Amino acid sequence: LRPVELLETTIKKTKPEREEINVGECVVHWFKRDLRTRDNTALSRASKKAEEGGVPLVCMFIVSPQDYEAHLTSAPRVDFELRTLEVLKADLEELNIPLYVTTIENRKDVPKHILEKCAEWGAKHIYCNIEYEVDELRREAKLTKACLAKGIDFTTVHDDVVVPPGALKSGSGNQYSVYSPWFRTWIKHVHEHPVLLNEADPISANPLSAKETFAAIFASSIPSAPPNKSLTEAERKRYANYWPPGEHEAALRLSRFLAEKIKKYKDLRNFPSLNSTSLLSVHLSSGTLAARTAIRAARDANSVTRLDGGSPGITGYISELAWRDFYKHVLCHWPYVCMSKPFKYEYADIEWEYNPAHFTAWCEGKTGYPIVDAAMRQMNEMGYMHNRCRMIVGSFLAKDLLIDWRLGEQYFMTRLVDGDFASNNGGWGFSASVGVDPQPYFRIFNPVLQSEKFDAEGEYIRKWVPELRGVGGKAVHEPYARGAGKEAEGKGYPRRIVEHKVQREKALERYKRGLGRG
Ligand code: FAD
Repeated sequence: LRPVELLETTIKKTKPEREEINVGECVVHWFKRDLRTRDNTALSRASKKAEEGGVPLVCMFIVSPQDYEAHLTSAPRVDFELRTLEVLKADLEELNIPLYVTTIENRKDVPKHILEKCAEWGAKHIYCNIEYEVDELRREAKLTKACLAKGIDFTTVHDDVVVPPGALKSGSGNQYSVYSPWFRTWIKHVHEHPVLLNEADPISANPLSAKETFAAIFASSIPSAPPNKSLTEAERKRYANYWPPGEHEAALRLSRFLAEKIKKYKDLRNFPSLNSTSLLSVHLSSGTLAARTAIRAARDANSVTRLDGGSPGITGYISELAWRDFYKHVLCHWPYVCMSKPFKYEYADIEWEYNPAHFTAWCEGKTGYPIVDAAMRQMNEMGYMHNRCRMIVGSFLAKDLLIDWRLGEQYFMTRLVDGDFASNNGGWGFSASVGVDPQPYFRIFNPVLQSEKFDAEGEYIRKWVPELRGVGGKAVHEPYARGAGKEAEGKGYPRRIVEHKVQREKALERYKRGLGRG
């Protein structure tokens, strides 16, 4: 059984027994990557259960250093989550709802701790939204049974995606591996099931007495980052400046984007210097904003009620948001992509280079290709990189440096504030031509042409590569080849570490050979 099916089967099998369970003394919502109070499916259901049973709602979040390690979660991302928890705690407090936050060193102890807390609080019902990574799905299946053995009902619900994985099948009854036909079916499905875009009911306040009952939790503070993910004070300030936390910030960004930028999104989204995208990925991946909320708001800003008509900017934006769903469906159907295997296993045997000097130059943004270097420096500074640039640096790593794309995938996770396994894995599979619906392997980005096309004036390059700020005109795209070598060298900008023309041929040969072996 795939992990998602294992969970579904466990839920189904245990349902009758779970339905028998009484309400207990409180209802628990377990926050994971759904750090918001609004439009949150599991939280809303937990709140309803508590209200109907006349008992308080208690929320919990578990900081798990081992999970961060296993997922290579970046320190800026952990910092964002912890800052968001402060906002969440304050918002819940307004409703007399306590937020219990603790750090559990060993991730195997997480389920045990949850059960202990439920026993202490007299909770008989726990709610959470499903995460679709393999380990998480297996954990939730086990927890469903472990809870039942203790007389507790553990309810897991779909929320992170608009359409649940497995709901869309191609004509031959299989999971789609190509985005366009999947997207057409996704649209049709959402139109047929408009409830999928409905907002979850708002949560209710706890009775005032909860303040006293859970006084210790109200008085507790959010733990600081575990040592393996801590940042210096200066770094914290920097990231806090780039990425203010919490759902109110997400809602503000979304409404500004809808008012000011979405209409031109389709035309401008590929140009990294224009700041024309929503910059909401950190919010979507940590759940301070639901994809459902963003799509509903975009639809409501359109002149038509369909998702595939009206403003091209709006339909374009909805189609980008749908990529999130697509990659999560892929992850659930082909969970082996979680295990460092390429989706296209005929490409499992490509001979990759493991040149540490080249890899370090790529990581540090010192390859001598300005657009690549600008992009890598943007990510190292902000924890974020523009989508076009993610594709350029991904292609450059795999097809110019011939370095194993999995190293790039991992490096991204350790740096990105919006790191999300499914989207990152999907993006790398696309760029390195080994994933679902990939860029064909023989289509190799020329980094200079990409630079000239998408950063024609060199504004993005000059912003992130200070050594090239004094280089005028088109020379900024390849200073040493266009007469600006002296200026570049004087400022310490590196020469190219490889020649694109030469590497391109090598890459074509390696992919062909790999295919032959696969
Ligand atoms: P917008 O253009 O405003 O798009 C809106 C939202 O749609 C995004 O916030 C995101 O949630 C979703 N989205 C857009 N494009 C994609 C896409 N190609 N795949 C999946 N979702 C998409 N996105 C992540 O959220 N986390 C990652 O770890 C991640 N890694 C990537 C790695 C590579 C190699 C590539 C090519 C892409 C990756 N992406 C990832 C997708 C995309 O680059 C970012 O979602 C986007 O740049 C975020 O900026 P934005 O919020 O302004 O996007």
